[in-house]
Amino acid sequence: MRIRNQLLAFVTASVCTGILAAAIVFAAGRREDAAGDAQARAQVTEHEVAGLLALTQEVARYAEPRAAEQWRLRHAAIAAALADDARVGNSPALVELRDVTQALPALFTRLEELPSNGDAFTARRKEALLDQLLTNTQSMSDYAYQWFQDSVEQRRAAESEFRWIALAVPCVMLLMLLASAIVVLRRVLLPMQRLDRAAAAIRRGDMTFRLGNTTHDEFGDLSREFDAMTAALIASDQQRDRSEQQLRDITDNLPALVAYIDRGYAYQFANEKYREWLGIDPFSMVSRRVPEVLGEDIFSVMLGKMDKALAGERVQWERSVWRDGVERHLLVEYIPDVAPGGTVRGFYALSVDITERRGAELEIARSEQRMADLTNAIPAMVGYFDMAETCLYANDAGLRSLGVERARIPGISMREALGETVYAQHEPYVREALQGRRARLDGKVEFAGRAAHFQAHMIPDRSDADAQRGFYLMTFDITALKEAEARRAKLEGQLRAITDNLPVAITYLDDQQRYRFVNRTGLEWLCRPADEVIGQRIGDLLRPVAYERRRENIETGLTGKRVTFEAESITGDVTRILHYVYIPDIESDGRVAGLYGLATDVSALKNVEKQLGLLVRSDVLTGVANRYSFNETFPLALSRARRAMSGLALMYLDIDHFKSINDTLGHAAGDEVLKAFAKRLQQSVRTTDTVARLGGDEFVIVLEGVNDPDEPQIVARKIVANVTSPLTVEGRSLTLTTSIGIAFRRAIVSADAATAEAMIGRADAALYAAKKAGRNTWRVMADDVLIEEKGLA
Ligand code: GH3
Ligand code: MG
Repeated sequence: MRIRNQLLAFVTASVCTGILAAAIVFAAGRREDAAGDAQARAQVTEHEVAGLLALTQEVARYAEPRAAEQWRLRHAAIAAALADDARVGNSPALVELRDVTQALPALFTRLEELPSNGDAFTARRKEALLDQLLTNTQSMSDYAYQWFQDSVEQRRAAESEFRWIALAVPCVMLLMLLASAIVVLRRVLLPMQRLDRAAAAIRRGDMTFRLGNTTHDEFGDLSREFDAMTAALIASDQQRDRSEQQLRDITDNLPALVAYIDRGYAYQFANEKYREWLGIDPFSMVSRRVPEVLGEDIFSVMLGKMDKALAGERVQWERSVWRDGVERHLLVEYIPDVAPGGTVRGFYALSVDITERRGAELEIARSEQRMADLTNAIPAMVGYFDMAETCLYANDAGLRSLGVERARIPGISMREALGETVYAQHEPYVREALQGRRARLDGKVEFAGRAAHFQAHMIPDRSDADAQRGFYLMTFDITALKEAEARRAKLEGQLRAITDNLPVAITYLDDQQRYRFVNRTGLEWLCRPADEVIGQRIGDLLRPVAYERRRENIETGLTGKRVTFEAESITGDVTRILHYVYIPDIESDGRVAGLYGLATDVSALKNVEKQLGLLVRSDVLTGVANRYSFNETFPLALSRARRAMSGLALMYLDIDHFKSINDTLGHAAGDEVLKAFAKRLQQSVRTTDTVARLGGDEFVIVLEGVNDPDEPQIVARKIVANVTSPLTVEGRSLTLTTSIGIAFRRAIVSADAATAEAMIGRADAALYAAKKAGRNTWRVMADDVLIEEKGLA
């Protein structure tokens, strides 16, 4: 329940209770008064009734009219008093009294109506009436007394009731007051006390205090508001702390000294950089004055600037400090902290280390100077133009050539500087450059009566990767170059005419093995037009096999050595033997720039040479090698065997009884037999083994790579078997046999003529032994030991 409603209810109940209590007290008082009044009336009536009783007795005794009159008056008074119900109450005794009183006058009248001197009956009747009257009057007296007693009792009861009520009402009021006090204490004072404690806690800075009141009344609402407010206060404090921390983090990580200085020149804030620069804890600087922290000397320098900042002016200045033995430059800025009212509370001081920037600026200035020196030193006109084609820079050569005053730079337009004619040549290229593309112009102008050639380069300035700012113009005088080029072209034409008409392929390969020159003959042999050859690598144009044959020679030539060699060249169906000469092109610094290649077709010569060689070295009748060839190749075979440290066998063969074949079949048939015999020998050995006819019916076979005396015997066995197979010559069947002498050397120690001689001698000796043994067999002389034929299996 709301406290206000509760208190209102309490007040209303208290007022109502008060009114009720007052009414009860008043009523009790009234009742007590009425009881007292009734008692007084009862007492008076009792006296009146006692008087009436005395009068009744007097009337009975004396029967005087005055007494009767008095009796009636008194009775009437009593009856009147009793008739007032409201004032006399209604006790049972009173009711009885009233009834008896009302009955008395009739009795008294009857008594009076009796004659005073009557008969005895009348006298007895009078006596009886008097008795009844006395009795009734006596009853009246008794009832009156009883009534009085009742009224006394009632008055006492009313008094007692009044006393109790008088006592109870203050008690009830007191209880109500007590209840109100408890309610006020519990609902108002205690919550107020807690609120007060909470307020004190907040004043102390203790934000954790919570009222935690859950009642639904004003204090409950207030407590919740309070709790919410402290929570909000904490949140705001935390937010402020966070903001402060963030601010500190930001300022600590700024590459600058950041401070706040108040009107009294005292630091109120300093970031971490101060620790780095001054070796001072930035927190300890707070509330300390600038001269205390930095020293009086610096303070006196800073004072004027600080006063300006405190006057509301933004101040920027530079100062130098020595740090770790190095002079550093600081850019200091004071930013006034102006309150909403306009007063300056202090200022923020920011000091940024600009040493590097200073250095860079200095370096830029130097580099600009260097660039100007450089551009002035090169034999070219150099200029820089902005996007509106206004010249911002021009070197001395440029100004001189165009006849422009230096004072006009920057400012003069490109059109004005170049003149209409030259500018017209440049214009399309300038447009290209302004669109961010490099442009090159080869132009010609009439100068001093002759053609002057120039080459202008326009290079866009977009080095910062952002919007283009302008372009560079670099113009070279290439007149001399053009003239030299023309002379060279003429010479080249002449040279080409000569080389093209030579039956020699002339080429020039650069150091990357690319064709730079090929004459007409060379192109014909390559079967390709010049544009498919020039610039291509020789390795990409020739067949891999053909290139491989030349590669080593080209590489040797590129080391600076002259190379000659022969190589086969196949173009379509034509195969040529080419004789190459590679002459290195050595530059003045010793570097090999390329190779001149001269290739001569020596195919015809080579063919003749080949034919002659064949003729000289082969036996005319049988086609196998002749003695000349054997004498040439046998020492080579011996050398190979010696190098390989392997064995070698020489077989010496002679047809058995050849003479008789000649004699019986004729010389021509003998020639046929010789041819057939030679053929069978070739078929019996490997193609790498040499078969030669020494003369007549004598043949030799050289077996290389033989390491065991058994191996030539296997070959001999095969020969003997092949030779003896039937042979038909001129329609006549005949059987040939041959004897074989074999010389075998396990290891050749020397490959001289004596060794060859010795081998032939041994083979001959072995042949003799074979003939002697009956022919159609072989003998082996292995390392000077004669070995018998192994059984022909
Ligand atoms: P042997 O078993 O001892 O070898 O008896 P042979 O009859 O074969 O005697 P020998 O080897 O000495 O005979 C070689 C003969 O070969 C001698 C010669 O008449 C003959 N002759 C030499 N050159 C030729 C030739 O070019 N053609 C022909 N048809 N016969 C030749
Ligand atoms: Mg013979």
